[in-house]
Amino acid sequence: MSEHSSKPVAVVTGGAGFLGSHLSDRLLAEGYRVVCVDNLITGSMSNVGHLQKNPDYTFIRQDVTQELDVKGPVNLVFHFASPASPIDYLELPIQTLKVGALGTHKTLGLARAKQARFLLASTSEVYGDPLVHPQPETYWGNVNPIGPRGVYDEAKRFAEAMTMAYHRYHGVDTRIVRIFNTYGPRMRPNDGRVVPAFIVQALRNEPMTVFGDGRQTRSFCYVSDLIEGIYALARSSHHEPVNIGNPSEMTILQFAEKIRTLCGSSSEIVHKPLPVDDPKIRQPNIQKAKSLLGWEPRMDLEHGLSLTIEYFRNLIRAGKV
Ligand code: UDP
Repeated sequence: MSEHSSKPVAVVTGGAGFLGSHLSDRLLAEGYRVVCVDNLITGSMSNVGHLQKNPDYTFIRQDVTQELDVKGPVNLVFHFASPASPIDYLELPIQTLKVGALGTHKTLGLARAKQARFLLASTSEVYGDPLVHPQPETYWGNVNPIGPRGVYDEAKRFAEAMTMAYHRYHGVDTRIVRIFNTYGPRMRPNDGRVVPAFIVQALRNEPMTVFGDGRQTRSFCYVSDLIEGIYALARSSHHEPVNIGNPSEMTILQFAEKIRTLCGSSSEIVHKPLPVDDPKIRQPNIQKAKSLLGWEPRMDLEHGLSLTIEYFRNLIRAGKV
């Protein structure tokens, strides 16, 4: 038997995306072979270029809503494929619904066939525009099913329901992580999310576009903390959803000012209309992750933002933005 075949195998759908690529790095470092499945509609080979020569890494370009055929044993399936920014799911509404619904069905089928553990990347969007604050996992949410964000929110809610059904009915060993706003290197500069938008605008001294009055809140988690929490959840034995995110909450206006200062920028702040159904508040209750996994975020916001700013500064210098 070759050395390779003795290593556990993890399949990561959406493995060329922001989170999927960081997760792949972590799994390889932990001694896994990683099979990445991605159709690259929002992911990018530039996120995984450094892995192409790694003998433990395989890239399959495929849409995960189609039948998934992975040769040989699989121990873990991480379902991370999905458009994940409001602009992406406005531009790709059908793909967003399909990957959350059909893609989750296919990847659960793969986990079942391989008797592998399955972990679903769910989202704080399942809480919609929340009426409970901060949001514990027991909150059922306040989602508009027919609004523009509904394609993502409902796809992920369906994905959670399908995951629990496979667990209860087929006995698949499943996990569900509800991911709150996360930032760090490898975010797409033009994905429309607030972190890349503000950083690129500030670095270019262009106007920073705060949507609405900027009093809506978010709580930002650095990517290494998030991956640590997800890895801990994958190794736990808990089947119900667990929030992973950073509870330090701020308004979007405060966030714009912080980024402007950290970039040493002279950008002015301008206001643009608030997108439809933009949640007014968001903060994870992470009590469950703390007690169950012994996990809590460690990265200080200013340090995490500085690392992220450096990443975007280099992209701009290289003419890649
Ligand atoms: N936002 C903003 N300016 C931008 C992009 C986003 O003010 O250029 C706001 C957006 O309205 C929301 C928050 O920042 O209130 C976070 O938006 P993002 O798209 O990053 O993710 P969300 O948390 O809404 O999924």
